[in-house]
Amino acid sequence: MNDRRAAVVVGAGLGGLSAAIRLASRGWRVSVYEASETVGGKAGTMERDGYRFDTGPSLFTMPKVFEELFSVAGRDMADYVKLIPLPEICRYFYSDGVSFSAWADEDRFARELHEATGEGSENLARFLAYSTRIHSIAADMFLNRSLHDSTSYLRPGFLKSLFRFPGIDPLRTMAEAVEHYFETPHARQLFERYATYNGSSPFRTPATLNIIPHVEYRGGAYAVAGGIHEIPKALEQVAREIGVQVHRGKHVERITWAQQGRRRRVTGVSVDGTHIPAQAVVCNADVTVAYRDLLAEPEAPELVRHESLEPSSSALVFYWGIRRVCPELSHHNIFFSRDYREEFGQIFDERVCPDDPTVYVNITSKSSPDDAPEDGENWFVLINAPYDDGQDWAAETARVRTVVLATISSRLGVNVEPYIETEQIMTPADIAERTRSHRGSLYGISSNSRAAAFLRHPNRSKRYRGLYFCGGSCHPGGGMPLVVSGGKIVSDLILQHES
Ligand SMILES: Cc1cc2nc3c(=O)[nH]c(=O)nc-3n(C[C@H](O)[C@H](O)[C@H](O)COP(=O)(O)OP(=O)(O)OC[C@H]3O[C@@H](n4cnc5c(N)ncnc54)[C@H](O)[C@@H]3O)c2cc1C
Repeated sequence: MNDRRAAVVVGAGLGGLSAAIRLASRGWRVSVYEASETVGGKAGTMERDGYRFDTGPSLFTMPKVFEELFSVAGRDMADYVKLIPLPEICRYFYSDGVSFSAWADEDRFARELHEATGEGSENLARFLAYSTRIHSIAADMFLNRSLHDSTSYLRPGFLKSLFRFPGIDPLRTMAEAVEHYFETPHARQLFERYATYNGSSPFRTPATLNIIPHVEYRGGAYAVAGGIHEIPKALEQVAREIGVQVHRGKHVERITWAQQGRRRRVTGVSVDGTHIPAQAVVCNADVTVAYRDLLAEPEAPELVRHESLEPSSSALVFYWGIRRVCPELSHHNIFFSRDYREEFGQIFDERVCPDDPTVYVNITSKSSPDDAPEDGENWFVLINAPYDDGQDWAAETARVRTVVLATISSRLGVNVEPYIETEQIMTPADIAERTRSHRGSLYGISSNSRAAAFLRHPNRSKRYRGLYFCGGSCHPGGGMPLVVSGGKIVSDLILQHES
């Protein structure tokens, strides 16, 4: 068999599927091996007693990143997945009884924010202009290319980006910048929340992360008809249509390599004891899984360094089938804690679940009615939790469940517990086990330091020629659009270095 230009992808998460589609559309022979019976990794789905739940991601942004991936394969995303723009992006409930919605229509949002909190009505526009400025400088530099490949620094435009670098506001924390733009505690807490979109603390992450509101308000927030899991399902279908071999329920045991002079070169993978030769191997599994299990190199300096970095936060998730329709709630809802600084201190410093957590409730049946019985709703209830460090999760879950129910019930004025018809729970330890993510972190390493963007594991291995990494544990980090970009970075590197 001619194994030139053959690539194997380990794992069918969104990053792996992105790399596979791009390589296949450039003429590579691509096989994907996925240990689970379904594709999508963290973006999974689950059905229970007539209720359907997305198990992981719930917020869909940056549709262009996904549309571009379909178009690379000569497909129109609209033929596979229906996106539903959300005019009401999120409904907020505060501990002092204040409640309002963030609208995609910025004027309406500014008006409502002002009426509910007294926040100066021009502050939102000023802040979003600042967020857009960061996006215009940072997006290309950090999201679309490798930070570790010299060619990224030789391209035209790099010097210009470098001169504009201070504009990404790297020296302040997110919270310091937010406090500069907004006067009220309500607006401040709302915009500090965006640090959680990559599992970090607003009091430690650099203000560069204030790029995220631009993405959400100016790029739009969407529901996906039938749920987020429709995205990896559609990508699997496109991959198959363009010739990718997708093998589900196939656990890769080893990434194989041979010594070539002073360097090591990957030769393929081993699955069920059979060697599958490949010129390039793309590892979509977590970096720790790659070194420890697949390369059997627990002492590799790359692994030791990666493990010394602080993982992003994890989550404690309750999947509740609720036998009640709640007009009080929208598609995305946030019930804020009283003291955000204390909440993040408990998550990152004490590594316990907060006493008074911010509670996020996502209800896909608001836009996909088939996801729940006619007189019910599928609630995905998440609190930010510390990464798994051996905590007693049964005790933590029991404690948090009581607080979460009390918070939602008191702010809605409805006792929620009697309406819970079915329940599933996922702790950080479950996330680690089921999605094979290091310590159950949702987004790889945290961005709780200025250097974090540069410390993520590179997309191209220096230790093994022909080995590439994409997914939440490496550059450019976790979150659906970012891992899809990671698949693009990896396929560009492979075309450059292996063709
Ligand atoms: C509870 C939760 C909520 C989240 N919320 C959001 C959100 O709202 N918005 C957002 O954008 N992101 C969110 N995320 C993050 C987002 O889901 C991830 O960043 C993204 O889906 C990770 O994609 P990935 O490419 O890294 O692959 P993963 O999803 O990590 O998948 C990797 C795949 O590799 C497979 N694999 C591992 N080892 C092997 C092996 N040896 N052989 C074969 N296969 C293997 C695994 O089975 C898995 O399917 C959330 C995540 C979680 C868990």
